[in-house]
Amino acid sequence: MQPEKNSRQPDSVAQIKSRAGRIRKFLKNRYPATETPLIYGTSFQLLVAVILSAQCTDRQVNRVTPTLFRQLKTPADFAGARLKAIEKLIRSTGFYHNKAKNIKNCARIILDEHRGRVPRALDELVALPGVGRKTANVVLGAAFGIPGIVVDTHVARISGRLGLTENKDPVKIEFGLMEIIPKTEWSDFCLRLIFFGRETCAARKPKCPVCGLHAICPYPDKTKAL
Ligand code: SF4
Repeated sequence: MQPEKNSRQPDSVAQIKSRAGRIRKFLKNRYPATETPLIYGTSFQLLVAVILSAQCTDRQVNRVTPTLFRQLKTPADFAGARLKAIEKLIRSTGFYHNKAKNIKNCARIILDEHRGRVPRALDELVALPGVGRKTANVVLGAAFGIPGIVVDTHVARISGRLGLTENKDPVKIEFGLMEIIPKTEWSDFCLRLIFFGRETCAARKPKCPVCGLHAICPYPDKTKAL
């Protein structure tokens, strides 16, 4: 992600928290439902779907997973499958060599070390191959209802534009948002920001003139026309 120009004075913590409250309210009204768009049946299948979603759209993942999960359902299925067979099934999601290897190794570790169950702790999840904090937090929130701040490209970009963070590093953004968003809303807030990023605050051409957050958005490069 390219750094974005921002020359305004730093806000106080109170100002940031107050703005965050207004943003939460706006997003809650606009996106009352917060379900991950990924289609899955079990927590392990969600983990697989989230790994597949790296550098790929949710829509494309949802095209692939019905066939994938018809043939391979459980960690035992994936651990026992030939790598080439997994690669063939997930090829259209991109980076399929690495993804297939990671998913197969995840399945084996989950079988060997977690009795076939997806772990519910962040540190255990991020120890799995191909699983970073973003993937782990998506799984914790969607599969287990354990709140987590998910920093993807939308959350990083929009948090910066809306003045909720001055950091570019995803882990620093995550810890910063943890301070200003109530814990119970962590997962929902991030998912709503992702929806908002796809619809309105896009990377290249944000729809600033029709944006409901325009009045409180401090982004200096707000667009004047659609
Ligand atoms: S005003 Fe523009 S930059 Fe700010 S949140 Fe809205 S769309 Fe994004």
